[in-house]
Amino acid sequence: MDTSEMRNRADAGPSEPGRDTRDGSTQTDSRIQGFGPRLSKVNLFTLLSLWMELFPQKQREEEEEDGDRHEIRRTGLVVARDSKVVGLHCSGPELHAGQAAIIQHGACLADCQLYFSRRPCASCLKMIINAGVSQISFWPGDPEVSMLGPTSSSRGPPDGITEEAALDAVATEKLKSNGRPHICVLLQPPALGLAQFVDETSRECDFLQKMSDDEPGLKTEELFNGERTRHLKDFSGRLLVRTSERHREILTHMGLENFCVEPNFSNLRHNMRELVELLAAVVAGVPQQRYGFHREQDSTPESSLPPHPEGLSQDVARHCIIQARLLAYRTEDPKVGVGAVIWAKAPSAASDGTGSLSLVGCGYNAYPAGSHYAEYPQMDNKQEDRQRRKYRYMVHAEQNALTFRTRDIKPEETAVLFVTKCPCDECVPLIRGAGITHVYSTDRDRDKDKGDISYLRFGSLKSINKFITVVSGSASGPAEQDGHRRKKPCANRPRDPLQASLP
Ligand SMILES: [Zn+2]
Ligand SMILES: [Zn+2]
Repeated sequence: MDTSEMRNRADAGPSEPGRDTRDGSTQTDSRIQGFGPRLSKVNLFTLLSLWMELFPQKQREEEEEDGDRHEIRRTGLVVARDSKVVGLHCSGPELHAGQAAIIQHGACLADCQLYFSRRPCASCLKMIINAGVSQISFWPGDPEVSMLGPTSSSRGPPDGITEEAALDAVATEKLKSNGRPHICVLLQPPALGLAQFVDETSRECDFLQKMSDDEPGLKTEELFNGERTRHLKDFSGRLLVRTSERHREILTHMGLENFCVEPNFSNLRHNMRELVELLAAVVAGVPQQRYGFHREQDSTPESSLPPHPEGLSQDVARHCIIQARLLAYRTEDPKVGVGAVIWAKAPSAASDGTGSLSLVGCGYNAYPAGSHYAEYPQMDNKQEDRQRRKYRYMVHAEQNALTFRTRDIKPEETAVLFVTKCPCDECVPLIRGAGITHVYSTDRDRDKDKGDISYLRFGSLKSINKFITVVSGSASGPAEQDGHRRKKPCANRPRDPLQASLP
């Protein structure tokens, strides 16, 4: 019996059995046709799960977590059905990510695929198996019940595996071998050239471009490099196992001895590193410093705005726009990838890691589901006329997020759309019609008519709170300058919310 698998570089075939006809062809065809490389589905779900683990948490909750006798590590989770993301979760003060998914989806989890940023604990796993989940994948680092012990780099790991972690490992092994679902490490190396592509396009993304538009003297190149280095260091500390020796020990305790032999082990560590580097580059495209979302004040009188005009904290808004940026790397558009995520904000906070937010839907720009590229006029930059026509066939990121939503937006609810590009004229009425109350985006293309696509209507979009990225002129950050925005939950927290959650 082999419940573990790892794709290696030689495996260029479809990432997993599925009926998504687009995937069978695009991973390889796209390169032949001169498209940029794309994230595979597995890459996307893996990166999203890692990113969800880093969802901004309030300081107080972290302290409570630290008080635990045995170390439960925060975990991110992506729930997918038919290759579509239907849930994004992370552990909170009371619920583990797996438990949060059970609470939200219940028996609807049957036939879903779950992608964890750590191997879930036995308590989560038994409920997930019981719900009829078809496939469970996990990132092969330190599991949810930590085998590294107290997560302090200064103190160093304790000798050997803690008793709690060893017991949990035995229980999960038992569940793994007796349960129906396929439980595995599904680690796919990024497509060749993808790392470079992500690096280049992140430097040129609308968020950084907007900053250099606003502040021509700003050295965005330096800013990007600095952010990427900082994030890589931070993410490596959290998501990778520092020494080979410890990593082998962890894998062995998880019943993954087959990964400890060469060349599997080196490949595994190399692939993990590559994916973390990719994540750091995507995240660096939305700099944390000198950057923020401001609510546009010219559009609508305060009284006619939907509830919660103050929006979300800067940390959470940035996290969500980066979710959308990750989705954009699944694009089928040869010119520009766009990603969109819609979250609904409940009136009261839940006890999982996303607080009061729950996912409504997400998407990226692509051909209609089930399409093959060849069925539509091919795009060639020299053939302007054809180039224009293809936009009639391309389904926009916002449109996909709304179409494949996992639930409806209730009229009284705050529904927040995050999109990596200014919504176009075709999408504006859809956004309004769907009941979106907040849009977080950039206005780089606003009021432009590009022939094939125009952005003239976004500016006049009424009764929706529009939050647009702007550069802050001062080091104090934009939150202090905007009277309409709620103050950060904790005024004196460190500048970096990711750092803030380190014990
Ligand atoms: Zn758990
Ligand atoms: Zn659009």
